[in-house]
Amino acid sequence: MSKNFDLVVIGAGPGGYIAAIRAAQLGLSVACIDAWKTKDGKPAPGGTCTNVGCIPSKALLQSSEHFEHASHHFAEHGISTGKLSIDIAKMLERKDQVVKQNNEGILYLFKKNKVTFFNGLASFSKAVEGGFEVDVAGDKPETLVGKQVIIATGSNARPLPNLPFDEQVVLSNDGALDIANAPKKLAIIGSGVIGLELGSVWRRLGADVTILEGMDKFLPAADEAVAKEAKKAFDKQGLKIELGAKVGEVKTAKTSVTINYTNAKGEEQVLKADKLIVSIGRTANTNGLKPEAVGVQLDERGGVVVDADCRTNVPGIWAVGDVVRGPMLAHKAEEEGVAVAERIVGQHGHVDLALVPYVIYTSPEISWVGRTEQQLKAEGVQYKAGSFPFLANGRARALGDTTGLVKVIADATTDEILGVHIVGPQASELIAEAAVAMAFKASSEDIARICHAHPTLSEVTKEAALAVDKRALNF
Ligand code: FAD
Repeated sequence: MSKNFDLVVIGAGPGGYIAAIRAAQLGLSVACIDAWKTKDGKPAPGGTCTNVGCIPSKALLQSSEHFEHASHHFAEHGISTGKLSIDIAKMLERKDQVVKQNNEGILYLFKKNKVTFFNGLASFSKAVEGGFEVDVAGDKPETLVGKQVIIATGSNARPLPNLPFDEQVVLSNDGALDIANAPKKLAIIGSGVIGLELGSVWRRLGADVTILEGMDKFLPAADEAVAKEAKKAFDKQGLKIELGAKVGEVKTAKTSVTINYTNAKGEEQVLKADKLIVSIGRTANTNGLKPEAVGVQLDERGGVVVDADCRTNVPGIWAVGDVVRGPMLAHKAEEEGVAVAERIVGQHGHVDLALVPYVIYTSPEISWVGRTEQQLKAEGVQYKAGSFPFLANGRARALGDTTGLVKVIADATTDEILGVHIVGPQASELIAEAAVAMAFKASSEDIARICHAHPTLSEVTKEAALAVDKRALNF
């Protein structure tokens, strides 16, 4: 016998589980299905983000940053530690514990909000009177009927052609978050967010890290001033980033890998390493979903085609998060999940993709929201820009972390903020002020005139806003 729901959500990553909770808050009967299991077979809702993405990477970034601070910065505070060591097994155990707390937190939230959770792989069966039939191939097979369905099946790491992930030597993010000992030599292909974050973790723990990047420009999506400052900081740390590297043949052995590539000067090079992380992007995932059974249209890359409101071509079926167009970010998936739940009950859910903040959790952190100076130039928009360095901020000096700057870009005529770009301490937290200001269509003058607490890093944002009008006070 099938079980009937107002809404069936497929996938319990940030897009799916948040959509399920919001829909339940709005009074719908909701089922959420997710296939992920822990190594010992328990349900592990939370998706890529919780299990092998945002959360475990931040846990390892935190542990490795503590180690780096203790190794290099405690002495300047008068703290001596003696010979330092790190127990990687313990660090990984802590990371697994953090992940588990998040899995359990989501199960608790489902219970609290009366969302019925099913652990298993979901596939569309057919359209039925007033809805869609979805099969769940779990420990206990089930058939559910949803009047409406949200597809939130996420994405998978993209391998290099002819080089599948073995998670021993050739690693995706899954394996890269679970290396038992810091490799002596670590190669990474791709200097995007994931390559930089995971490269930072293992460099801090002692690996000699080389990142090969095919493009000639470092972080082309970031503002050039920010990308330049970040590259300088990574170079100083010894994180080697080779731009314009064209990867050729990659040979793997049991405990090593050899990468042949051509460098930016056109010279043939060979890089040998103990492990290779391939972080060249992610592809939308609809494996096992059988979207064709109900006629849901996919694009040429396997993603679900949706309109601006996340409607698929089949009325009553929606899709959110990494499986659809737009930035592959957890908070974007969440916003879409909330908006779709609200649209289903006739409300006016809203997501502005132009105001999604981007963050890279390296040291220094990098963040931005809105447009870059190079984008505005290309679009012919008249703008004015102001920057302020953390070096001139009292709190940053007290923290001992003065790398970087905040840059505010505003419309030349109206002064409306068009973009804010940060590289430096706590950039991930500081960007929230900019996102709020831009959502309220604030001017740079608004930020410049709002009282910011002293001494805080946020004063750098205020000073950068003052600098837009050439009246920074402390620099
Ligand atoms: P997912 O989180 O991928 O969840 C999809 C879920 O659907 C999975 O649990 C999967 O098992 C399930 N599923 C798929 N098919 C089926 C099926 N047929 N039946 C049942 N279940 C199914 N983003 C950030 O915003 N900040 C970060 O700091 C960040 N760090 C990251 C670090 C790494 C290493 C990686 C890899 C990614 C990171 N991301 C980060 C990206 C973020 O993880 C994704 O954008 C986010 O998880 C997308 O959410 P989603 O709900 O669309 O999909």
